[in-house]
Amino acid sequence: MLGPGLLFVVSGPSGAGKDTLVDALRARLPRLRYSVSATTREPRPGELEGEHYFFLAREEFERRRSAGGFLEWREYNDNLYGTPRDFVERTLTEGYDLIMKPEVNGALAVKKAFQDAVLIFLAPDKFSHLRARLLARRTETNEEIARRLEIAHQEFRFVRNFDYIVINEESRSDEAVRDLQAILQAERFRIHRYDDDSIRKLEDS
Ligand code: 5GP
Repeated sequence: MLGPGLLFVVSGPSGAGKDTLVDALRARLPRLRYSVSATTREPRPGELEGEHYFFLAREEFERRRSAGGFLEWREYNDNLYGTPRDFVERTLTEGYDLIMKPEVNGALAVKKAFQDAVLIFLAPDKFSHLRARLLARRTETNEEIARRLEIAHQEFRFVRNFDYIVINEESRSDEAVRDLQAILQAERFRIHRYDDDSIRKLEDS
């Protein structure tokens, strides 16, 4: 009864814990594929080409963008970010579930292209924790942190366009990972994912 793969989009403000939680989820679900984005921002220490991002020069990003290579793209904090289209389409057609973690506008753009995509908004239990988390990871300047927090406020306005909200409570991220996993599992059983033929086969067997 398996059809095309399901597309899960985990979004929410920078500092909400998307990276950590999606990594933990992928460790639990080895068959889940991950869509690696392209970006023009500089790699942070420890970030690997092709694993965390495809790091591109702006001209190369723009060239691929003009050629229709991105499913969606956004300028965020003076850098470009985009979801490579081919990988997403191929992976879903092959029947694999796929997860990605764009910022909120990107998530909404993905939903327009794939109405069946499942949008999950990841939020901190307190907005003030965002600032603390961004400070703790020491990868952005104070000015960048201030800008990310401003963007985070704007992102919260779109929360009702999402299908689910998961709260990443301070020091209880295991629970948030479990919540994400529960959503992924439940989505697989939604009745609209099964066509009449599949149901009839069950009845006739
Ligand atoms: P960071 O620089 O912290 O890795 O990412 C900055 C923001 O860009 C995050 O909110 C992240 O989710 C978002 N982002 C990463 N990849 C993409 C993408 O392909 N498309 C969009 N729209 N946003 C992305």
